[in-house]
Amino acid sequence: MSKTAFVVEDEENIREIIKCALESCGLQVQGFEKAESLFEQMKTVLPDLILLDIMLPGMDGLTALKRIKLGPTEHIPVILLTAKSSEIDKVTGLDLGADDYVTKPFGVLELMARVRNALRHAASPEQESHILQANALVLDKDRHEVTLENEPIELTLKEFELLRILMENSGKAMKRNYLLDTIWGYGYAGETRTLDMHVRSLRHKLGDHTGKHLISTVRGVGYRFDG
Ligand code: CA
Repeated sequence: MSKTAFVVEDEENIREIIKCALESCGLQVQGFEKAESLFEQMKTVLPDLILLDIMLPGMDGLTALKRIKLGPTEHIPVILLTAKSSEIDKVTGLDLGADDYVTKPFGVLELMARVRNALRHAASPEQESHILQANALVLDKDRHEVTLENEPIELTLKEFELLRILMENSGKAMKRNYLLDTIWGYGYAGETRTLDMHVRSLRHKLGDHTGKHLISTVRGVGYRFDG
């Protein structure tokens, strides 16, 4: 199966050049004008590589990068595109977890070399499993199914997503706004009641005792899954 790359670049010309270059490397490419649209798309499908412009309308590239590296998308290699070649940007980008950097204007061959390099480095580490498991609790991402002690648990779509993200980041305190943004989308940042209600219902469905034990409240931050 061919690999996919998502390209976020607001300038159409450059986006098209990048698309052509990557397609000639055998990649399937989807272009986005804004980081917000990238995140919207990544709710349903994740790419093998992201090319991210820094200067974007709306959410800027460095903020987007931070967000990519915070969640279940953290393993996706990111190449930053920037018109600024100042050292400070490079340091910030690499500190935030970017895999590489291309300064505009760039040559197509250089870009292709960087892309191949990033994909090579990304290849192989832990092959992502479709099964998340914590003792008797099993979440099957492909089948969209959750079982506890082999008994199926009926979850709503949002509850499922919430549990999946918490389990994928087991042991890590997940910020409220991150969970809200990722599961409900942008307009919801700050609507913590929505999140709290879903956590409560999720805990209840997992069995109040087990539920509270598995999903801890981290005061001032959000929630943490303790497998
Ligand atoms: Ca730009």
